[in-house]
Amino acid sequence: MAILICGGAGYIGSHINKLLHQKGYETVVLDNLVYGHREAVKWGEFVKGELADESEIEAVFQTYKIEAVFHFAAYAYVGESVGEPEKYYYNNVVNTLNLLKVMRKYGCDKIIFSSTCATYGEPEEQRQNPINPYGATKLMVERIFKDYAKAYGLRYVALRYFNAAGADPEGEIGESHMPETHLIPLVLDAAAGKRADIKVFGTDYDTPDGSCVRDYIHVADLAEAHFLSLQYLEQGGDSDFFNLGNERGTSVLEVIEAVKAVTGKEFSVICTDRRPGDPAILVGSSKKAERILGWKAKYAEIETIVAHAWNWRKHAQF
Ligand code: UDP
Repeated sequence: MAILICGGAGYIGSHINKLLHQKGYETVVLDNLVYGHREAVKWGEFVKGELADESEIEAVFQTYKIEAVFHFAAYAYVGESVGEPEKYYYNNVVNTLNLLKVMRKYGCDKIIFSSTCATYGEPEEQRQNPINPYGATKLMVERIFKDYAKAYGLRYVALRYFNAAGADPEGEIGESHMPETHLIPLVLDAAAGKRADIKVFGTDYDTPDGSCVRDYIHVADLAEAHFLSLQYLEQGGDSDFFNLGNERGTSVLEVIEAVKAVTGKEFSVICTDRRPGDPAILVGSSKKAERILGWKAKYAEIETIVAHAWNWRKHAQF
């Protein structure tokens, strides 16, 4: 029996692949390498393939006996999703339908899905009401899961995370996006002298220091949550959704201070206009995940998250 990791060459998927390997699972990574890195797949089998092509998914299910699927294969640039919704709806929704179809055909009933806090829209709303196409695609998939669970017996865990950050504490894998838009890697590049400066997108928000507040969660903690979700489904747990955050917000300016403290480097910080689509504060509670999955973040401190990311970025192999 093997675990299929769709999008396992990407940032979060590669960390789950490493953890599952350490826990003794056989893994198969299916990734089209559009945004993923072949070098990030250091464990298990690798298949280059497209979820857009059902026959490529089927080939994997024919070759390996797949017990459960982790699904990270999605586009995740919020800004791009606004300009190119078609790309997002096809890749994130239609391709997930292809995957579910093949899973059903081969009797595989367990899926762990990388969802997002972007399904909530403005965080003070408890109701899910995404404010961009990216969040909408993830919410649609959550809805599809509910209907497939009822009709076909699909069993799922959808993890809605806040800001994934940091890198493997052992430094074997880490975050590398092309193009890079995320705050922590960009600030680290400024510290490393690879960028002239870091721009702070907005200092007039209704937050303690005026910059946006986010809930940064260590990618190794995310990996652990995914592993616990697999165990939970294996042990017969009910399909469910969980938020994963640290319940503590860190502002953009505080992240910059943490990078300065960890790296000991000075660099130029430019306060500029707001980035469209940014909510002021996104902070999540993980109480339900703690109660039901037994998950607790190990690396909640922003300095630890930044230190691991810095360690990776200094020696990044991809
Ligand atoms: N941000 C910033 N400068 C940058 C990149 C990001 O000020 O060069 C801000 C961004 O506006 C947001 C926060 O940093 O408030 C986190 O952004 P990121 O893109 O890392 O994650 P998001 O919250 O969009 O998922």
